[in-house]
Amino acid sequence: MKEPRILLIYTGGTIGMVKDYDSGALKAFNFDKLLTNIPELEQLDCTIDSISFEKPIDSSNMNTNHWVSIASIVEDHYQSHDGFVVLHGSDTMSYSAAALSYLLEYLEKPVIFTGSQLPIGDLRTDAKENLITSIQIAALQEKGKAVVQEVGLYFEYKLYRGNRTTKINAEHFEAFASLNYPPLIESGVHLKVYHEYLMRKKGVKKLHVHKNLDNNVAILKLFPGFNENILHSVVETPNLKALVLETYGAGNAPTEEWLIDGLRKALKKGLYIVNVTQCSGGSVIMGQYETSSQLEALQIINGKDITTEAAITKLMYLLGNKISRKTFKTIFETPLRGEMQ
Ligand code: ASP
Repeated sequence: MKEPRILLIYTGGTIGMVKDYDSGALKAFNFDKLLTNIPELEQLDCTIDSISFEKPIDSSNMNTNHWVSIASIVEDHYQSHDGFVVLHGSDTMSYSAAALSYLLEYLEKPVIFTGSQLPIGDLRTDAKENLITSIQIAALQEKGKAVVQEVGLYFEYKLYRGNRTTKINAEHFEAFASLNYPPLIESGVHLKVYHEYLMRKKGVKKLHVHKNLDNNVAILKLFPGFNENILHSVVETPNLKALVLETYGAGNAPTEEWLIDGLRKALKKGLYIVNVTQCSGGSVIMGQYETSSQLEALQIINGKDITTEAAITKLMYLLGNKISRKTFKTIFETPLRGEMQ
């Protein structure tokens, strides 16, 4: 059997950063140095190729064009490679992993996002384990087929479904959580694969790479004291097409007249509004409390247990695909890539 061929896609992030000793700040460095820093990569049972963003970025600078670039790199190398590892800063990795899950429709090969909390050259770095295990996961095959056939995120001994993750910690090596979906693989002495949670492509369709994302979207987080001016200034933003409304608990919002009225008017003008809980885990259950019944009556889209990261990117993807007004709510409420229940 021939060795799997893996493509590393280096976008930037701490994993490939060095310290500027004059300023003390971390800055991105040349990708070639990343490989020389991990001679262990030579020992893996796979062929590794790499490609780098021309100008590696801190992931705070990530935007929709970068997502399309990553998707295009996967598309261009889809026939020649068996798996992909995307090296990415952890700050916005959950957004990118979710976006890529939508852009890569009918994916049959692993696309694993990873990064690190400490630079690769640091004595106590978490980068080596994250990178080496991500490559091993991307190379995992059973009966000639990839074990993972979706976009995943590997960090600190766990592979998660990419569009289910959130960055929860800026300090701990365990920087990500996936509170509404179990890990797909756990790395201990062996790699434990939870086959029952892995996504399997149905049908015979081949990879279709979407390249249109519409970023006329916003996130509005409720808080006690939230006032009418703020609501108006957000929903009346020129060109705004869709809004993630981060509500309390199981999808609850104040029952005040001005809020319901303001939302009703915005919906009438054509704005899509999705109800997503600001809790890290659990689900929106519209109608469970009086405080969400009114949102339900307004026909606001039910985000169920989707993360904010997966919701905002799903909006960009659906708007980019010019989904019709009639079906938009139904399609949003349907799991497209395992991002919601
Ligand atoms: N600021 C960095 C980034 O997201 C942090 C990291 O790499 O984890 O690019």
